[in-house]
Amino acid sequence: MSISRNLSNIRQRIQAAAEAAGRDPSSVRLVAVSKTRPAADIIEAFHVGQTVFGENYIQELTDKLEQVQEAVEWHVIGHLQSNKVKYIAGRVALIHSVDRLSLAEEISRQWGKLGKICPVLIQVNISGETTKSGTTEEGALQLVKDCALLPNISVWGLMTMPPFFDDPEAARPCFAELRRLSLAIEAVGIPGVEMRELSMGMSGDFEAAIQEGATLVRVGTAIFGER
Ligand SMILES: *Cc1c(COP(=O)(O)O)cnc(C)c1O
Repeated sequence: MSISRNLSNIRQRIQAAAEAAGRDPSSVRLVAVSKTRPAADIIEAFHVGQTVFGENYIQELTDKLEQVQEAVEWHVIGHLQSNKVKYIAGRVALIHSVDRLSLAEEISRQWGKLGKICPVLIQVNISGETTKSGTTEEGALQLVKDCALLPNISVWGLMTMPPFFDDPEAARPCFAELRRLSLAIEAVGIPGVEMRELSMGMSGDFEAAIQEGATLVRVGTAIFGER
């Protein structure tokens, strides 16, 4: 298993999927999901041109913030407890997993102490599966509106995680639905809200997600191997 070889393979597949969909390949960014992988793997990937890394667990992320001195862009992609927000304030570039107002309020409060703005995505549970986190489709617009009123948060778009891992065709309707929802929210024209990002697609289904409009794909296993 070679991280370098895997990364160039994934980059080629991203480019091909974007071109096949008539999209500019540079409109799709690869988030390398490095949860449970050692800092050395992140540094190795960084040295072959990977700059954006996604982490799920806050303790693990804060350890890696110390271990990795390279100019990495960190994203939080997993379920986030409000009482952990203070440990990452000002230290991550994007939080993909805002699914409730109380969490958004805490993010705004912690970033506000630093005089900074935190870009966030609203995580939507498109499939309606009860075990997945994320706001409901019906609740997404209101959550975006409420977040738009918070002083130190900026909503940049939506994220989803379908339950159908590794079955791209099963996941595709969820991706298409997230895009429709994003366009519908954009059409409302909420001041301060820019629906520019769609975070969707993982190792088993990122090409389908790109065909349906993903701007951020979150790929772990296909880069770093099985966890
Ligand atoms: C682990 C994880 C991924 C990456 O999944 P792979 O199947 O390993 O590519 C993507 N998004 C989220 C939210 C994750 O927790």
